Parts: sequence; structure tokens; C-alpha cells
Amino acid sequence: MGLRKEELLKWLDALQQVYAENRQPLTDLDAAIGDADHGINMDRGFTAVKTELVGNVPADIHGLLQMVATVLIRTVGGAAGPLYGTFFLRASAACTGKTELHPEDVVTLFQAGIEGVRQRGKAEPGDKTMLDALLPALTAMREALSQPGDVAAILDAGAAAAEAGMLATIPMQARKGRASYLGARSIGHQDPGATSSYLLLKTAASVWRNS
Ligand code: ADP
Ligand code: MG
Repeated sequence: MGLRKEELLKWLDALQQVYAENRQPLTDLDAAIGDADHGINMDRGFTAVKTELVGNVPADIHGLLQMVATVLIRTVGGAAGPLYGTFFLRASAACTGKTELHPEDVVTLFQAGIEGVRQRGKAEPGDKTMLDALLPALTAMREALSQPGDVAAILDAGAAAAEAGMLATIPMQARKGRASYLGARSIGHQDPGATSSYLLLKTAASVWRNS
């Protein structure tokens, strides 16, 4: 059986909790190479999604992801708001008409979302952004799709690659976003957006493990 709207709601619910718990660590990372708001932004955005969902759950997966996009664009702010908003907007378009997501649909969802982030932010691999976690995750998920296994195995592969990509941002010099203003002084710090992107995938892997 594939993932239904209920499993996506569980993911969103878990993300609210994960970003609330990581509000300070993500903000601390952004304090080092940005303006110390990334954890605050993510917590505000996903808490707003949860509030919006109280008694007002969209009819289908497409509508749900579209609603998430709208709320994130409205509430997150900064660089991350439009980028994660675009992720969910493109993901929603990839799910049009689907009531259940099979492994290939889940990879299509993430592929559409990640390509959207790339187009919107115009970052390249190695620029020290969230894409340095997301692009390796996409490659790993596509590879995992060609192996026997379920959605959880695909997300586990994606989360592991995102974690490695996140850690690989430490020695990078930022070439996009606020951290790029620091030049060589951005070296030696983990990118906050790569960290929140890793959490996005890790949370999907753990929530969908038993689906
Ligand atoms: P701001 O930098 O406006 O304060 P946030 O602190 O919420 O926004 O988000 C910062 C994160 O956004 C960075 O750590 C980086 O991962 C990501 N980011 C910034 N610019 C880009 C871009 N052009 N493409 C992809 N990700 C980006
Ligand atoms: Mg910031």
C-alpha cells in the first residue's frame, strides 16, 4: 500500500515538533554565518501549518501540499520561506490527482520539490545551501528506487545522503544567500538550511517507517 493523505499529515505534524525542538540549534547555526533566525523561521512556519490544519484539512494530497506551500510562503520569511514554499508547491503539482503515493510517486514528489528549490534559488552544488543536502538525497532516493524495497528504505537512503551532504557543507565557502557576505569566514560552519533539509527527510523516513 502507498502513502495516503493521512501519512502526509503525520509527516507535517512531526515536522512541527521537530522544528520546534530544533528551533535553537538551527538558530545557533544561523547566528554563526547569518542573522540568527533560521530556527525561528522554520518553527513559525510549521507551527502555522499545524494551526491551519486544525479543523481545515484539504480534500486531497495535492490540496494539502499546496496549502503547506501557501502557509510557508506567508509565514517563514527570509530566504528559506520562498524556497521551502516552492518545494511544497512543486511537490503538490507532482501529486495532482493522486490519492496514494507509491515509491515512484514519492521520489517524483521529492524530485519536483528539489528541482523547484534549485530553479528558485539558482544555487549550485557546493554553494553551501540546503541544496547540498537535497541534491545528494535525490540521487540516493532515485538509486534506491531501482532496488527492491519500500518507501521507508528510499527515505532512509535519502536521509543518510542528506546527512552526509549537510556535514559536507562545513568546509565549504558560501556562494549564495546571506552567508556568502562572509566570504572565507563562512568556512568551518554547518549550513543551517542544509540542516533543516536533512531534518525534513529524516522525519519523513521515521514517520513513514511503518507505512
Ligand atoms: P535568511 O538567510 O534570509 O535569514 P534563513 O536564515 O531562514 O533565511 O535561511 C538561510 C538558509 O537558506 C541558508 O542556510 C541556505 O541553506 C538557504 N539559502 C539561502 N539562499 C539560498 C539559495 N539561493 N538557494 C538555496 N538555498 C539558499
Ligand atoms: Mg537567517
